[in-house]
Amino acid sequence: MTKKYADLHVHTRYSDSTLLPEEVVNYSVKAGLSAIAITDHDTVNGIQPTMDIARKTGLEVVPGIELTVENEKQEIHILGYYIDWRSKSFIDKISVIQRSRIDRIIKMTDLLNKQGVQITPEAVFNKADKGTVGRLHVASVMVELKITRSIEEAFRKYIGFRKPCYVEHLKFSPEEAVDLISRAGGVPVVAHPNLMKDDSIIDEMIGYGLKGIEVFHTDHDSHAEKKYTRLAKEKGLLVTGGSDCHGLGKGRVLIGTVMIDYAYVEALKQASKLSR
Ligand code: AMP
Ligand code: ZN
Ligand code: FE
Ligand code: FE
Repeated sequence: MTKKYADLHVHTRYSDSTLLPEEVVNYSVKAGLSAIAITDHDTVNGIQPTMDIARKTGLEVVPGIELTVENEKQEIHILGYYIDWRSKSFIDKISVIQRSRIDRIIKMTDLLNKQGVQITPEAVFNKADKGTVGRLHVASVMVELKITRSIEEAFRKYIGFRKPCYVEHLKFSPEEAVDLISRAGGVPVVAHPNLMKDDSIIDEMIGYGLKGIEVFHTDHDSHAEKKYTRLAKEKGLLVTGGSDCHGLGKGRVLIGTVMIDYAYVEALKQASKLSR
């Protein structure tokens, strides 16, 4: 039997990737993946369209989401797998977060204007189109307007965490995020821990019901993979991984660059059944 692989961290144009569901499916099939998870920021709208297209190809689509919380030190991203994405209470809660993202962009463009950067909220909303609007859209408009030379420069100078034009997300604690995913029948997993400044939040979140850790990620080198594999074993956490592909939003299509053993998907699926 040939080995099966998965990419459990993929965005679509329903958040801040440039790729439509059909493009995500095409790239995944070409890369030889058997399964992908759709993990858009604060939305589940990309799941069904991707599933509908993937069905014809045999590609398995795991329903997921990526939530953002922050504390005084850092941003924390929490992935939720096998959530009941049709649950009304879940959709109601993420609708509140989506609305707050719109206000946040207005505040961010106000701050940018005060810094002498001419950018309108409408330009950012047009860029986001149907997607949950966020800083990657702001940054890509800034590049288009030649305000910065790169996405990276926009974050570094203006909109990165605690930079002059940074605006906080809706107040939402790590405990609330883990809880929201668990109550929707999902498996909460801490995303790309190597990008966090302070790992102690992982232990804290285990106390709230965190079940997994993203060991394999585009921004994890082999040292980070080893470190978090060890941590997963020590704490009894599930292991996940994915490319965090944002289409051209992050320069190039990353689908196919992080491929994890399908056995991790089976373990995740099993855990989701137990949590129901
Ligand atoms: P938001 O949801 O508005 O907080 O924006 C999050 C998006 O911005 C995610 O796609 C992040 O990967 C991306 N992002 C955050 N910091 C940076 C950075 N320094 N450089 C490039 N992208 C970033
Ligand atoms: Zn993103
Ligand atoms: Fe993330
Ligand atoms: Fe992501």
